[in-house]
Parts: sequence; structure tokens; C-alpha cells
Amino acid sequence: MSIKPIPFDPTSFDTLHEANKLRQGESYTERTGSWISSDWAASLAGEVGEFCNLVKKLRRGDQVPSEELARELADVIIYAELNASYHGIDLAKAVVSKFNEVSQRVGSKIRLQLLP
Ligand SMILES: [Mg+2]
Repeated sequence: MSIKPIPFDPTSFDTLHEANKLRQGESYTERTGSWISSDWAASLAGEVGEFCNLVKKLRRGDQVPSEELARELADVIIYAELNASYHGIDLAKAVVSKFNEVSQRVGSKIRLQLLP
């Protein structure tokens, strides 16, 4: 099996991380400054739930603009980064590692390689 890793640019996660940190430093922190791990996890779960609710509506035949789906998925990514940051996790490294782990498990040749 020939494996050619696909370059993965972590800068978008880095930028999101910095923006999240900056925003946390604003008045917004008054609400979240005392949050513990479970608060951040619940927020992430809430955003996943909001996305799933929209998908449920699609399934039952409601009209849901793709922009609404996109907004909720964006919330999921933003809160995933906030959760990662809370735990000191490098999200880009984690994504590459997990993607490659699954590729290996399912017998895929597709791999990601973190760009320096
Ligand atoms: Mg939301």
C-alpha cells in the first residue's frame, strides 16, 4: 500500500485559536471565565445538538437553508477549538493524528501530514 500524505495546513486552527483567546480576553470572559471542563463540553454538545436538530428538520421535510447548517457546524468547530484550548490540546495535531489513525484502521491509503 502506497501512502502519500496530504499536507494539512494548521494555520486556520492557529488563527481560530488566537481569535478565541482574544475574544476570551474581552468582556465575554465575565460569562465564561469561571467555566470548567464540563461547561465547555456542554457548550460543544449544545452546538452539535443544534446542528442535529436542523438535520432532523431536513429529514422530516422542512426547508432548512444550508447557511443555517453551516452556522451550526461553524459553532461546533469554534467550540471544539475552545475545548481543545481549555485542555491544552493542539487541535490541528489532534485532527491529523486521529484522521491517520482511522485511515489505518479502515485500510485507507489517505493520510494527512501536518505542515510545519
Ligand atoms: Mg449554534
